Order: sequence, then C-alpha cells, then structure tokens
Amino acid sequence: MKVLAAASEIYPLVKTGGLADVAGALPGALKPLGIAVRTMVPGYPAVLAALDGGSLVHRYDQLFGGEVRLIAGMARGLDVIAVDAPHLFSRNGNIYLGPDGKDWPDNGQRFAALARATADASRGAIKGYRPDIVHLHDWQTALAAVYIRFGGGPRTVMTVHNIAFQGQFPASLFGSLGLPAAAFAIDGVEYYGSVCYLKGGLQTASAITTVSPSYANEICTPEFGMGLDGILRARHGVVSGIVNGIDTEVWNPETDEDLAVRYSAASLAKRVANKRAIEKRFDLDEGDGLLYCVVSRLTWQKGMDIFAEAIDGLVASGARLALIGTGEAGIEMAVLAAATAYRGRVGVVTGYDEALSHLMQGGADAIVIPSRFEPCGLTQLYGLRYGCVPVAARTGGLADTIIDANDAALAAGVATGFQFSPVDGPGLDHALGRVARAFASRESWTRMQKRGMASDVSWQRSANAYAALYRGLIGK
Ligand code: ADP
Repeated sequence: MKVLAAASEIYPLVKTGGLADVAGALPGALKPLGIAVRTMVPGYPAVLAALDGGSLVHRYDQLFGGEVRLIAGMARGLDVIAVDAPHLFSRNGNIYLGPDGKDWPDNGQRFAALARATADASRGAIKGYRPDIVHLHDWQTALAAVYIRFGGGPRTVMTVHNIAFQGQFPASLFGSLGLPAAAFAIDGVEYYGSVCYLKGGLQTASAITTVSPSYANEICTPEFGMGLDGILRARHGVVSGIVNGIDTEVWNPETDEDLAVRYSAASLAKRVANKRAIEKRFDLDEGDGLLYCVVSRLTWQKGMDIFAEAIDGLVASGARLALIGTGEAGIEMAVLAAATAYRGRVGVVTGYDEALSHLMQGGADAIVIPSRFEPCGLTQLYGLRYGCVPVAARTGGLADTIIDANDAALAAGVATGFQFSPVDGPGLDHALGRVARAFASRESWTRMQKRGMASDVSWQRSANAYAALYRGLIGK
C-alpha cells in the first residue's frame, strides 16, 4: 500500500510540536506492515538542506505567486517530497510566525500551496506514482481533502492534533485557491462567511482521526469542539481516535544518557540516584519522601494556574516538587514565588531543557498533568515508561492511557496512575491526597510503577491502528 502523507512539520527536519513527532515516526512504524509512506512537506531551508540528492518530480510555472518545484528524495531517513517555493517557504525563523511574533500574513497562500501540491501528487502529477491513501495532518494540509473532493483523487484521512488551530482566513482568499465556486459553501471551506481550512478538511475527508479516542469524543461536544463540534457530530460515524506513541529508543531508562543512573523495572531502587541528582539541580532538601515533578508549558490549557494554587497543599502534605516550564508570565511568577516561599521543598527551572526532563522522569516519584484538555499528551507516556507515576486530569489522551488507582484497580494490580475530575483546585487536592496515601504503601506503589513500565507506548501499536483504518478505506 502507498500512502502520501502531508504535514507542515516533521521530526527530525522541522519541529514545533507533537504533530512533527507523529509525522516523523509513523512512516517508520508503518513500513514493517507493508505500507510505504512519502510525506509532502514545505521546502523550508532546513528541509532542502537535509535532502540528499533529491530529484525534480514536478514543476509549476506559477503557484500562489511564484515558481514551485516538487523535489523528491530521502532526508534523514524520511522519504519526502519538498514543495520548493522560495517565495513562500524560504524564510528564516519560525515556520508559522514572522519576526513580529504574528502569523506570516500569507499563511493562507503558503499552506494552500502545500495542500494543492499534495492533491496534485495524489492524482498523477508525479510520473509513476499513485498513492492509495492521502493522510493529512492539521489545518495546514486540510485543504488537500477539499481539492480532492472537488477535483478527484484517492481517499483521504484527516488527522486533528489540536482542534484549537483551524486556519481561518478572510473570504477574499477564496478566489485565489483555484477551487470551484461550489466549494465556498457549507459542505466546503465556508465557515460563517470566512474560509476555514480545517473545517473544509473535516467536511470532505473520507475519515477523520484525532490522537486519542477520548479526545475524538470530546471534540464532538461544544465544550471541546471550538466551534467545529457541529460538523464533527454530523460526521460522527467517520471520526475515531488513535493514541500517539513515543520513541522508545530515545525514551528508554535502560540506556538514557541523560540519567545519573540507568535502570529497568527489575532495578527500580536505582532510581534514588536520579532523585539525588534532581534534588541538586533544583536546590531541594535531600529525602526519600514523595517527590513530584512537572514538565509542562505553563499555560491555561495545561491547568498550570490550577496547579500553582495547589502547591501550598502539596507542601503542607510533606511532599516536594521539581518543576520545569515556560509560558504565561502570571503562572511563571506564581511558581517562582512558591519556590521562594518554600525553599528546599519546591524547586523551579524556567526554560526548556530536554535533558533535564529525562532526569526528572527518571527520578521523581510522580508527574502531575492537570490539563483542561489534552488531545493525546506525551509526558504521561514518558512517565509510564520511566516508573514516574502519572497524576493526571481525566481528559483526552490522559484518560485513555492511564489506569486509575481506584481501590479495585489497586487490588487487582492493574493500576498505572491517578486520574482526577473535575479539573479544578479541589479535584487536584483530592488527587494529591490519594497519591500520598498510595505512596505510603511502597509495595503497591512499586507494583504500580512496574505495571506502568509494562504499558505498550510504542508507535507500533499506533501504526497497527492506522494501517487498519487505511485498509478499511480502500476495502482491503
Ligand atoms: P504539548 O505538545 O501540548 O506541549 P505534550 O505533552 O504532547 O504537550 O508534549 C510536550 C513535550 O514537550 C513533551 O515531550 C515534554 O517533555 C516537553 N516539554 C514541555 N515543556 C518542557 C520543558 N520546559 N523542558 C523540557 N521539555 C519540555
């Protein structure tokens, strides 16, 4: 089977978020299942530089204001087709934002070009290449499903990584998209009088997926759907959720170079050396008591305002906290104030430090993730793999990947973490109380760590689900 994927970012070539991880990992995980994935990506400077002897496979004299060439080749192990359009993609800095921190004013044209090239490549523009399925990621590529619906092409899968990002533009853009007038309508890209790329993709794709089954249900409701829930409810039959995986080689406590000491489920006692290293890095008192960590963007979505308010109670219960994050100024200030107020009990690093995040998962007892919504979430998956017990909001991917330590699950030995709802101060306080009580029984705590470490968080599991979806769509 041949799949043409399209994404605005792909790890390790360009990454700003989880979308890049999915786009970068799926091809490798699908390959053993007999599925060959090529990915259409913008020809950013970093992508063109990584292309190893690419070849010109198609050319447009004019596409959204300039010449565009499609260059196919291998780039760091990925089979990519770069949309080489210097007038659209040859820019330094952020792939979505200009130097002023605002969206590039021509994002509508930039990602319409990516989508148009994807649609054309799916219907024969590249000699000798005819994919069976087109797999689109997020609003930046959603328009390809619309081009295909109105101009022909294979069946399409539209994956939503975060429905908050929709690609909305003024109606005046429509004329330049090269779509028939009929596409500016309720079953096309029209959305309350403007153009919305994601809406068009959701309306026209053969199947819609998102990155967890719970989030798939949630986005069909007004509370989580960000205005697109009505369309999703109407198409409920084709919406499903597939949980992301993690790179189990990069995230492997047995080989992780960022840890002070490496360990496995059979040698959990060794984690204490990593705890000591965390205490040093965060200026915490030394001790064997409950140590929480937080690795997060400090934002409202992540519930970090709720968490900041819960720190007093956390400290009062005798626990300690190591937190790393950046984000909203008010939340940063609140957690820094807590670190000053509770010297030795609360340590905060503001910034982004990948290596330190590994150490935290490898030495803390539990990781707190109080997200208001979470399409999939990665830090709970790392936590499971590292024996750092997740304490998380019961929402989206957090709800789907953790087995709550209620009495029955504890007794049966199947619990892997803690979930709480509602996601508010009392809900979080209550959860922290449950964690403290469970931690007091070290034997059952260790059992929970081991059970989590045995969870399948690999991309292979996700790839199996995508493969089944593709096969269903083409009737194989
Ligand atoms: P989101 O993509 O919404 O921020 P995810 O849980 O899906 O949330 O992914 C967040 C990723 O970023 C994880 O890999 C997490 O470890 C990492 N991360 C977040 N903040 C930091 C930080 N301050 N330092 C290091 N890694 C971080």
